[in-house]
Amino acid sequence: MSQQASAPPPAVDLRSDTVTRPTPGMLRAMVEAPVGDDVWGDDPTVNRLQAVVAERTGKEAGLFFPTGTQANLAALMAHCERGDEYLVGQQAHTYKYEGGGAAVLGSIQPQPIDNAADGSLPLDKLAAAVKPLDDHFPRTRLLCLENTIGGKVLPAAYVEQATAFARGRGLATHLDGARACNAAVASGVALEQVCAPFDSVSLCFSKGLGTPVGTVLVGPRALLQRAHRWRKVLGGGMRQAGILAAACLYALEHHYERLAQDHVNAARLAAGLRGVAAIEILAQDTNMVFAQVPAAHCAGLEGFLKARGILAQIGPVTRLVTHLDVSSAGVDACVEAVRDYFSAR
Ligand SMILES: *Cc1c(COP(=O)(O)O)cnc(C)c1O
Repeated sequence: MSQQASAPPPAVDLRSDTVTRPTPGMLRAMVEAPVGDDVWGDDPTVNRLQAVVAERTGKEAGLFFPTGTQANLAALMAHCERGDEYLVGQQAHTYKYEGGGAAVLGSIQPQPIDNAADGSLPLDKLAAAVKPLDDHFPRTRLLCLENTIGGKVLPAAYVEQATAFARGRGLATHLDGARACNAAVASGVALEQVCAPFDSVSLCFSKGLGTPVGTVLVGPRALLQRAHRWRKVLGGGMRQAGILAAACLYALEHHYERLAQDHVNAARLAAGLRGVAAIEILAQDTNMVFAQVPAAHCAGLEGFLKARGILAQIGPVTRLVTHLDVSSAGVDACVEAVRDYFSAR
């Protein structure tokens, strides 16, 4: 019904898993949600979401945020004080794709570490980056990992080692788990297992789970009390936010298991594109495909696909993402369009 207000969606949109539209069932859940003023702690739907996600992840408490960027920043600010530093991947979202918020707004110095090909931060590099307690140095306080990263599931054994290393050096641990649900579903383990090694985890609902907005930060109650203060300072105190939390509760119930279908569709997309000689598949993990496209054809292919109702950001390294609104027929239409484009050239 309210979808009439927006432009009709394209047939296939592979640019990101953030482009999903709320389903009629999700919209109904939002409309029917009991609400209150969440800045006062009064919103029953927000409170339920926070409790449900804390329980699902095996943590003490949860805190609802409008975005993952704000949840990560509030978490970093809750873990670290001014002049502290956190260890983070060069390719990590909190380092590279959040406008430098930790440094800009948190007075927290990032200590970036080169990610290995599997997304991990090698332990010897971590060990070399931890500073001794000395007034010359920032105080190393936190290790931040990301799972999935570039679609890749971090190896569970590595996560165990890295978080054990951090604990041994007195560091707290935070997981940017924007796509931790994809990691859990792809690994066939409970979400709790993916979150267990970390003190705190942020979980996005606006990616594969398909809500309009929303991230829940989980962790120890004392940490979340500090994060709650920073959320207010950062402008994230929302009022009748139960309308948004209801979408997240709906997504947990109806869109979690089906993430497996996105992974199947991404594999189908990679397999189809492997049949096109001009394209080289670099990787396919969970719901992401990375493909090499000849530079001379990027703009041409993007326009050709668009004319067929297929949206994709085509570059020399192209990322294609499957989600709730991409069916296997949509995947096949994309493969066929790419094949047609190159067979005409
Ligand atoms: C999307 C994303 C976030 C948060 O993004 P928002 O758009 O602010 O919700 C954080 N980390 C990763 C890895 C992400 O993909």
